[in-house]
Amino acid sequence: MDSVAGASTTCWRNLYLHWPFCRRKCDYCAFYSEAGVSQKLRTRYFHFMLEELRRFPRTGTARLESVYLGGGTPTLLETEELIELGSVIAALPLVPGAEISVEANPETLDETKAAALASFANRLSVGVQSFREAKRRFLGRECSDAAIDRALALGNNFPEFSCDLIYHAQGESLEDWQDELERALNLPGLTHLSSYSLTVEENTRLAARLGKTFQGDDDLDCDMWRQAGKTAAAHGFERYEISNYAREGHRCRHNANIWKGDTYFGLGAGAASFDGGNRFRQVESIEKFLAGAAPEVDQISPEARLREIAAMELRTSDGWGDDPFWRQRFPALWTNERECAILHDYRSLARQQLSWFGRDYRLTEEGMLFWNTVAEGLI
Ligand code: SF4
Repeated sequence: MDSVAGASTTCWRNLYLHWPFCRRKCDYCAFYSEAGVSQKLRTRYFHFMLEELRRFPRTGTARLESVYLGGGTPTLLETEELIELGSVIAALPLVPGAEISVEANPETLDETKAAALASFANRLSVGVQSFREAKRRFLGRECSDAAIDRALALGNNFPEFSCDLIYHAQGESLEDWQDELERALNLPGLTHLSSYSLTVEENTRLAARLGKTFQGDDDLDCDMWRQAGKTAAAHGFERYEISNYAREGHRCRHNANIWKGDTYFGLGAGAASFDGGNRFRQVESIEKFLAGAAPEVDQISPEARLREIAAMELRTSDGWGDDPFWRQRFPALWTNERECAILHDYRSLARQQLSWFGRDYRLTEEGMLFWNTVAEGLI
């Protein structure tokens, strides 16, 4: 798993590429990325990634349905590097019409880079987080209004165009949040919205700054989540996952595949992979990754894995059901359906706060607010 060649026996259907470089760490960010890395190390990492991609298995019938270039800040790549990376991605074994997504930070996206991205990617996800300068300052995210406006205008050049927002920052009212939602959902060409409640993660600058004084208001948090669903629906966007909204036919295929338990290969420092049975996570250090450090392996039983996936699927509006995909992969778990422990758990949970439709099990809209409890019961 430490290199693409070592992983060649798996049928990879999704690929995640991690560009773990940022100009500066945002105060709320707990994702793995590094700021202030030398140019030399950055260039070494870039060439390593290209080499690994060129060695990506092309044998057999496996084809990638999605490629996701995330970070970190992929738009910190130079235009020439994006063009080179794009030509290597285009040579991968892709299904016709594969989804190729790139995450963009408004501060580092200009017309030239957007044109380079549009030559190989069909989906752009712009990390706005907030349209309000004061809220971005609270979040410790350096970005100007002008950069956000420019990036969002460029997003309209992509067939799939998504925007990320954060809600429930300190002092934010329902009216403030409604304004943010309206601004995003009225963007020309927007097909997808992700909106996340602010979590003050340990070991972030925000946690250090707020200490124990920050007390989120659970009721306000739930109201903001409900408001996102209502406003998105009024603009023709469906909530298809707890934090994600899309126009019909514009769900993020990469994430949807991963939630349902499809295989994905994560290339890069800190990137995770799932081969259909085990999960792997590469070391969170650029230096160690380049030196060939072995990934951490999360090995659990097929049933435990299926329970995890079932919980993940309950975050989606489709829920979890009698999926031929899983029947094929874990036939033993389906041989005596009446006794299937997972189905049994769903039924007992359903009596409390879930709905089920035929053979599919879904959380109701309000039930989604109890997802944590349900997931704890299943895993
Ligand atoms: S939020 Fe994005 S841009 Fe900010 S530090 Fe994290 S990965 Fe980098």
